[in-house]
Amino acid sequence: MRTMDVEDLREALRAHGQRVTNQRLVLLAALRGLGHHATAEEILHAAEDRLPALSLPTVYATLDLFDRLGLVRKIATGAGPARYDPVLDQHHHFTCRRCGAVEDLPVSVDASPALRAAAAGGHVPASAEVVVSGLCRRCAG
Ligand SMILES: [Zn+2]
Ligand SMILES: [Zn+2]
Repeated sequence: MRTMDVEDLREALRAHGQRVTNQRLVLLAALRGLGHHATAEEILHAAEDRLPALSLPTVYATLDLFDRLGLVRKIATGAGPARYDPVLDQHHHFTCRRCGAVEDLPVSVDASPALRAAAAGGHVPASAEVVVSGLCRRCAG
C-alpha cells in the first residue's frame, strides 16, 4: 500500500505554493507512524514530543491542507471526530455510527457509473470511494 512520503509532501506543497515546514514534516511522520485512520487528537499526541507548542486547531488545519492536496484522505464518521487515512491506494471503508470506528473494506468496487454521472453533470471527477455505515461488531454485539 502506498502512503505519501516526505518527497510527495515536498512536491505537493511546492506545487501549491505552500511552504515546506518542519511542523508539516513532523505531522506527516506522526500520521504515517500511527498507521490507518488516526484522529487529529491522536496525531497531536504522537507529535507533541517534537512540537511542544503544537495545538489541536493547527493539527486540524494541517491535515485539512494535506487532504486538499490529495496527500491524505479525510474520512467523516457518523460519530466522533474525522479520521485521516495516509493510504493513497483506492480502498473503501466501513464506519460505525455509534463509536466512530473506521475499518478498511477489502473489496474492489466498480465506481465508474458514479464517475460518469459526475462527468455528465459537467464536473471533473477524480476518484470515488464507498463508505458503508452502520454498527461495528463491538457496538452491534
Ligand atoms: Zn462501533
Ligand atoms: Zn483506509
